[in-house]
Amino acid sequence: SSYRPTRQVDSLCPYCGVGCQVRYHVAGEGAAQRIVFAEGGDGPANAGRLCVKGRYGFTYSRNRERLTTPLIRRPEVPKGTVVDPAAPLTAFREASWDEALDAAAAGLLRIRHAHGPHALAGFGSAKGSNEEAYLFQKLVRTGFGTHNVDHCTRLCHASSVAALLEGIGSGAVSNPVRDVDFADVIIVIGANPAANHPVAASFIKNAVKGGNHEGQSGGNRGGAKLVLMDPRATPLARHAWRVLQFRADADVALLLSMACTIIEEGLTDADFIAARTEGFEAFRDAALNYPPERTAALTGIAAATVREVARAYARGPNSMILWGMGVSQHTHGTDNVRALIALALMTGQIGRRGTGLHPLRGQNNVQGASDAGLIPMMLPDYQKVADPAVRARFEALWQAPLAQTPGLTVVEIIDAACAGQIRGMYIEGENPAMSDPDLAHAREGLAKLEHLVVQDIFLTETAMFADVVLPASSLFEKGGSFTNTDRLVQLARPVLPLPGEARPDWWIIQEIARRMGLGWDYPGPGAVFDELVQAMPSHGGMSWAKLEAEGAIVAPKLAADAPSEPVLFQACFPTANGRGRFVAVAPLPAAELPDEDYPMVLITGRVLEHWHTGSMTRRAEVLDALDPDPWCAVHPADLARLGVATGGRVALQTRRGRIELEARADEGVRAGTVFMAFCYREAAANLLTQPALDPFGKIPEFKYCALRVEAV
Ligand code: SF4
Repeated sequence: SSYRPTRQVDSLCPYCGVGCQVRYHVAGEGAAQRIVFAEGGDGPANAGRLCVKGRYGFTYSRNRERLTTPLIRRPEVPKGTVVDPAAPLTAFREASWDEALDAAAAGLLRIRHAHGPHALAGFGSAKGSNEEAYLFQKLVRTGFGTHNVDHCTRLCHASSVAALLEGIGSGAVSNPVRDVDFADVIIVIGANPAANHPVAASFIKNAVKGGNHEGQSGGNRGGAKLVLMDPRATPLARHAWRVLQFRADADVALLLSMACTIIEEGLTDADFIAARTEGFEAFRDAALNYPPERTAALTGIAAATVREVARAYARGPNSMILWGMGVSQHTHGTDNVRALIALALMTGQIGRRGTGLHPLRGQNNVQGASDAGLIPMMLPDYQKVADPAVRARFEALWQAPLAQTPGLTVVEIIDAACAGQIRGMYIEGENPAMSDPDLAHAREGLAKLEHLVVQDIFLTETAMFADVVLPASSLFEKGGSFTNTDRLVQLARPVLPLPGEARPDWWIIQEIARRMGLGWDYPGPGAVFDELVQAMPSHGGMSWAKLEAEGAIVAPKLAADAPSEPVLFQACFPTANGRGRFVAVAPLPAAELPDEDYPMVLITGRVLEHWHTGSMTRRAEVLDALDPDPWCAVHPADLARLGVATGGRVALQTRRGRIELEARADEGVRAGTVFMAFCYREAAANLLTQPALDPFGKIPEFKYCALRVEAV
């Protein structure tokens, strides 16, 4: 039978940052090979578990819409013309690899010669491997000659990283997800792990209720108190000890009133503050202005509840905070994370098992892509572009001069494209025509580019603006290392042959680099990884051979004989003086508040079955069958006021755009607030969202804008 597997390959899940190891069972021969089922591998992050995406989401790799040959735009077809991804030849013609790569590189070189290096920019991908991220940023910095390189971390946890680097000297998590087994109190704020990190959610549930993962490390005792803090009552709410469903832009006020309670009630850890931190006094003075009794009207949370939660967190004994984009995607996202860091520092809830700070990373390699340098102001390992000594080290390693000034971020690059300053781009595996805020503006910027090279596995909404489209590899078709949310560097292994003439991303990046005058000759990902560890002190003790032998290594790994550190900051913080730093914050309103014309609030997020812009999951049959059509969640009272039954159609309108879709009654959203996911191209949420940026992390405020809802 064509369903009878003949071999199995151990690799990784292509979706979220939990980083589940997966055993893929493959049937068929030659080009007809396909995955017939997936089972959970015994990885450190998943211990045999998988969610619906990992178990059923692999079929996109053989979807009939896969790009299998290089494409060049037909000159008569305007950029941005909507094309059926199954019939790309209506807008493009097929080309040989040599012709397409020559055209891709020549266009970039032409712009560099005519307008200078800073007229170019690149978006790399958190869906690619560490090696691909490393090569991509190296190409932009040494081949394009600019630091205009970024990726989806800018839309995800850029504000978290900014605050964490500032406060505790490291942008990564302090403790792995599975430390929830050791926690007495678990705060999950601005995150919906049941949809977006489901295996992590399952470990959280076990920490609360006990469970069936006997034989794994950790307590598995049940009994932890779960506090869910979110404008929506998400599925974990049913396991929570307390649910704080606060107003969507009142998060800083809520966190400050927790801090105020801890200070007022003498629950701080004075020894930890004295020995391990600095700046407490200024933070304390700021926090004392926000007792919960004063903020209750703003946050919507009763003072007694805030005090109760603050006491529980401070007393622990072990308390852990996990958060997601509900915290980070605000114009005050960095302040939110500063407040979370302050809570951990003032109570000494960091540096031990079952404590600490865990920003749940989104894409399966967003941690690794950030570590490897897909960031405009940082070279690999968060070494600052602006530091002449850092630049000198990289110039010596790469044998190439580097620009002196940091580059532009994702949204800034699109703004610069609209303004005609960025004229050429290379986009690998990202889909800004769906993922950027204010899509009409983003699409205008893409359409204005003189030369756009898109490398992807499907003709995405972004590829519809491309001059050259390069057919790339899915995770199933290449080897490489990927770093999960726990800082675990894991090896993906090739499961299937590449379809048609598609090529591994690292190979394509190298071919463009060669055509731009760089003499690269990497034989494969292993050679790239071994250069990467020279560039990244945090990976200095790793090697490709060691990774192949062990399958997974926890970063940081400073030397081959140094121990791996799943729990960081046990003795000190990696800051200049070893101390954690409090940064005083104050509540700020969202950039766009409801008014007479737009009286409601739109919040965006994701759903269990679909991943980000949907380019993969909507081409995975089971997942798309489970959730095929766009919908939004509206409070029943709002639906009644609109005269719409659940399942009826509504129009969502903001100052930037209008979409129509199905409305579902949902008591889990606050009255006056509408939630929707951003994965549906036929009703793209980001046509509505607005691009105001957090000033530190430069992340857009996807999580809040003023909205008008009408029945249609
Ligand atoms: Fe994949 Fe994340 Fe689900 Fe694990 S939890 S199977 S990594 S999507």
